[in-house]
Amino acid sequence: MGLVQQVLEVVKKRNPNELECLQAVTEVLESIRPVIQRNKKYRDGKILERLVEPERVIQFRVPWIDDKGQIQVNRGFRVQMNSALGPYKGGLRFHPTVCASIIKFLAFEQVFKNSLTGLPMGGGKGGADFDPKGKTDIEVMRFCQSFMTELFRHVGANTDVPAGDIGVGGREIGYLFGQYKRLANEFTGVLTGKRLNWGGSLIRPEATGYGAVYFAQEMLKTRNETIEGKICTVSGAGNAAQFTVEKLITVSGAGNAAQFTVEKLIECGAKPITMSDSSGFIYDKNGITEEKLAWVKSIKNVRRGRIAEYAKKFRAKYVAGQRPWRIKCDCAFPCATQNEITGEDARKLIENGCYLVSEAANMPTVPAGVDLFLDKKILFGPGKAANAGGVATSGLEMSQNSMRLPWPREEVDLRLRHIMFTIFKNSWETAEEYGHPGNLVVGANIAGFVKVADAMLDQGVV
Ligand code: NAP
Repeated sequence: MGLVQQVLEVVKKRNPNELECLQAVTEVLESIRPVIQRNKKYRDGKILERLVEPERVIQFRVPWIDDKGQIQVNRGFRVQMNSALGPYKGGLRFHPTVCASIIKFLAFEQVFKNSLTGLPMGGGKGGADFDPKGKTDIEVMRFCQSFMTELFRHVGANTDVPAGDIGVGGREIGYLFGQYKRLANEFTGVLTGKRLNWGGSLIRPEATGYGAVYFAQEMLKTRNETIEGKICTVSGAGNAAQFTVEKLITVSGAGNAAQFTVEKLIECGAKPITMSDSSGFIYDKNGITEEKLAWVKSIKNVRRGRIAEYAKKFRAKYVAGQRPWRIKCDCAFPCATQNEITGEDARKLIENGCYLVSEAANMPTVPAGVDLFLDKKILFGPGKAANAGGVATSGLEMSQNSMRLPWPREEVDLRLRHIMFTIFKNSWETAEEYGHPGNLVVGANIAGFVKVADAMLDQGVV
């Protein structure tokens, strides 16, 4: 049995019920085989064996009181996966599906993603099986305060710097920060994704979505194509007419990552036609415009309603209980959650002519789907590369907090663009160097791995 297989067997035996974690570890380990074979130092240093074992796993009870005066109990997690490159860094997810397996897979992915950004950040992830949907602001605040009452002893500006993820946005980060500040008696950059007026960074909310579009643009350049400039014949001057474009884009999700993916696509002259939430998706064949997107933002971020309402408001189609991958498109931007593109969805996307997938979500495509995309040689940007703009800009927020100096929007955006360009270039060139030209899964995994592995060797057996 080869080394990779041996390590996977150990992971399976130690974590028998953690399917998502095993999926992520398998994908990475299988694709970095060439670099392990070439480098005895990684084998001797037991780098793979060490990488798959989190440095620390914290699980804790989160008791809180709802508006009816009833005590509720949730489960909280923080997985501190690897600190070879810097303080642990990675988001917090509040969603009923959160469990050890989901947080571990996200933490594992985060290690390589953070390494790819070139910024000094280790990898971690956390969250709770708490569902913010349907809760009042006061209930969310009580939950966040209880969550941070335990978490605060494990995090810090130089130790572990959490951010947002599904179900954790500006509101939640505010409540979490407030409680940290009270308990630790210090105002430091312990969380990123803060609101602008008290230490947040410009472009941080936009960064995941914008970054996924910048990454798509880099992929298209390899075929001398652009996302912009595909606008063709336009007649009329109405809403629909203004967006007669050839490039059709499907986007899943209606949250942070999806909203800013759509925003950037519109800005670039592309035509996003779908958005979704966990209840279903909307299909707007006329394209989602700036005005429509502004309405989506208000319904999702302020009124906290459902995407179904879009269909009534703008006479679009709503499909309940399904994802948008059967709709004909050129480019797909999965922006919702893990495993949202099944093998069958991937087949349908390709059959319908889709030739670019840029993953704004983490691990949104099942392994069979990834294999198909690679096999058909479409432009495929895996999450840890394509959505790294979010954490990269979190890294920039940390820098600004340390300097106590905010950077202007243009500066942060320029740095984000440059980081996405560098991630693409490193991944593309590494894939070529290891004999898999065009395979950004291999490229991103190896490029991310080497930096972490070398730092681990430098730091001894820890
Ligand atoms: P968000 O603002 O909470 O939005 C999540 C969206 O996905 C919502 O529309 C949600 O619908 C939908 N969704 C969640 N779980 C789903 C499920 N099981 N099935 C179908 N739809 C589901 O979260 P986000 O920050 O945009 O995160 C979305 C993805 O991007 C995640 O994979 C996350 O890890 C990844 N990501 C985020 C960042 C970041 O900076 N925020 C950075 C890198 C990667 P409901 O409202 O119905 O739940």
